[in-house]
Amino acid sequence: MESKFKGRALGIGTVFHAGCASWYMTDFNETAAVAECMAIDEELERADRLLAAGMVKGYAQNYAGCTWEILEIEKDMYVTVNGTDFIVKMDGIVRIGMDVWVLEHKTASRIDRNYWAQREMDLQIDLYLIAAKMLGYNPKGVLYDVVVKPKLKFLDRETEEQYINRCAAWVQQPGKMEQVQYIRTPEQLEYTTRDTTEMVACTQRAIKSDQFPRNMNACFDFYRDCEFLPVCQGRTTLEDDMLYQVRKR
Ligand code: SF4
Repeated sequence: MESKFKGRALGIGTVFHAGCASWYMTDFNETAAVAECMAIDEELERADRLLAAGMVKGYAQNYAGCTWEILEIEKDMYVTVNGTDFIVKMDGIVRIGMDVWVLEHKTASRIDRNYWAQREMDLQIDLYLIAAKMLGYNPKGVLYDVVVKPKLKFLDRETEEQYINRCAAWVQQPGKMEQVQYIRTPEQLEYTTRDTTEMVACTQRAIKSDQFPRNMNACFDFYRDCEFLPVCQGRTTLEDDMLYQVRKR
């Protein structure tokens, strides 16, 4: 099942990702990246699209002069851990000096200590590193980029370009854009393998018994409501066709 409404936050994130990918693929061309945000096929209100374009413009300006060698962009693949397949979607793989890094972009409503602490044990990071190794790279770690969504409204008296520029300036303020390096030790990767084995066993048990316990630690991950929150709170069911539909494969 999937939500019929991806939600504003996810839509902004999708446009932001497309703009960043364009920036990397066009040899760090800020104009092309902003144009991609305005062109990408994504259901989103015009003002939110402009906001995402402003975030990309701010990102491009903040990292202007970037000399990274781009090895991969938007790479999707399967990773098998202990006989279980995971879909991994890497934003990119880059070479910086002598080192190879997996690149991850995220948008967030805020960045704080908890946000980074959770990433220390984030399975996604381990899977990225395993995936990059499967592609033949020897990654040093994951470069985790986060940009906070501006809390700025589009004003009647300003042009679209002025709004984009205002958002671009906003994300370049201290604390609105951060980049953290995650390097995993062999012991941490071992924890991941063990966690994965247990997670798979729990999931198989749940499927067998047709009982799926709620994981209340994940309902507000990344500072947004999970799309299935109304179901888990008992306010509706998955049969609510105003909200949910069977995902097409
Ligand atoms: S609302 Fe919470 S418990 Fe329910 S599916 Fe989402 S993360 Fe899981």
